[in-house]
Amino acid sequence: MAFEGLAERLQGTIQRIKGKGKVSEADVKEMMREVRFALIEADVNLKVVKEFVKKVSERAVGADVMKSLTPGQQVIKIVKDELTELMGGDQSPIQFANKPPTVIMMVGLQGAGKTTTTGKLANILRKKYNRNPLLVAADIYRPAAIQQLQTIGKQLSFPVFSLGTDVSPVEIVRQALEKAKEDHNDVVIIDTAGRLHIDEALMQELKDIRALKEPDEVFLVVDSMTGQDAVNVAQNFNETVGITGVILTKLDGDTRGGAALSIRSVAQKPIKFVGMGEKMDALEAFHPERMASRILGMGDMLSLIEKAQENVDEEKAKELEEKFRTQSFTFDDFIDQLNQVKKMGPLEDIIKMLPGAGKIKGLENAKVDEKQMGRMEAIIYAMTPQEKTTPSIINSSRKKRISKGSGTSIQDVNRLLKQFEDMKKMMKQMTNMQQGQKGKKKMK
Ligand code: GDP
Repeated sequence: MAFEGLAERLQGTIQRIKGKGKVSEADVKEMMREVRFALIEADVNLKVVKEFVKKVSERAVGADVMKSLTPGQQVIKIVKDELTELMGGDQSPIQFANKPPTVIMMVGLQGAGKTTTTGKLANILRKKYNRNPLLVAADIYRPAAIQQLQTIGKQLSFPVFSLGTDVSPVEIVRQALEKAKEDHNDVVIIDTAGRLHIDEALMQELKDIRALKEPDEVFLVVDSMTGQDAVNVAQNFNETVGITGVILTKLDGDTRGGAALSIRSVAQKPIKFVGMGEKMDALEAFHPERMASRILGMGDMLSLIEKAQENVDEEKAKELEEKFRTQSFTFDDFIDQLNQVKKMGPLEDIIKMLPGAGKIKGLENAKVDEKQMGRMEAIIYAMTPQEKTTPSIINSSRKKRISKGSGTSIQDVNRLLKQFEDMKKMMKQMTNMQQGQKGKKKMK
């Protein structure tokens, strides 16, 4: 999961200062030493770390913070504001052309995820912006790249324009633009050639394509797992070809997060999207504030709600909320819930978006694999209606029957019963936490 190491360190540091009624300069100094260490360990660019620490320290020892009633909280807010700022402040939207088609050029090194991201981006443009993109295969040096784009196009039902490998990329783009006009495609996404390293010929080719028709966006696709290399690539591309934004891929596997935190500041270009997996729907708009919130363990309810809205039936969600509140959650709901959750992606990612989730005991092990999910379903289906609503009646002879009926072991049944109880407890804790927060707000 993205930022895991950094999140853990920063959250530990924050926990110590959070409740302090008085914060001295020495406290801030001590905290900033830890923050500095955490950022360096996360592979954040050294210059960026220095500036960040300086800014936060200056603001944190300011008179209004020290004199405030909740200095600990104020310091945390400053850290969050500055993290947000570091990652670009506001979310940076896609620039569309006034007169279609909007031209988007995808550039980057080989293996960064350019072709995959071209498909994912087209998907977002269709789903969220109601656009009708044409994908252009302009990587003539790697025949497999053309094929790969065609496969993606087929899978998602997008037209792919290709002239094979014998025509120059500039000519391909010229003809693709004509084709887009004819077919009324309002966006053209050009998948350009990658290289193993930055070289003159590649840069010249990209400049030539730019010269033919100034794109509305030039997105550099970089692999976040390459850390500071990704930052250098971004700086280099920006200085030579010129880019309008960065798409950071493979953030799902990047536990450190150094690239995400440094790129904006070093390359002076915003991160527009992040890749969160290999699937075609695993591209998300990058929201600096939400990301800062997640890193600091404050949760990311907005993204969670958006994810839910995309995947979850609203009526069911309302019913479920009522059941959480009244503690009348049964195994039937559990099954429903499993199915809904399956649609939203990996459970551990979802849980991490909840505020304070890190503090709920046992959640770190809340991983669900497909096989285990199948077993859970089989066990629940083997229960009688009464057992589903009142699991407390499940004694050892009932357990035996259920395990036989579902083709599982008694241990499996026991485990599920325990998970169910844990889940109920967790909900209770969360409802309490929410009510606690509401209470606090009222007191202010
Ligand atoms: P290109 O050479 O830049 O066109 O790279 P590809 O699009 O062929 O991607 C290289 C590999 O990275 C493929 O296996 C992709 O599935 C994988 N990939 C791309 N984006 C992501 C991402 O956000 N997360 C993960 N986990 N894998 C990704």
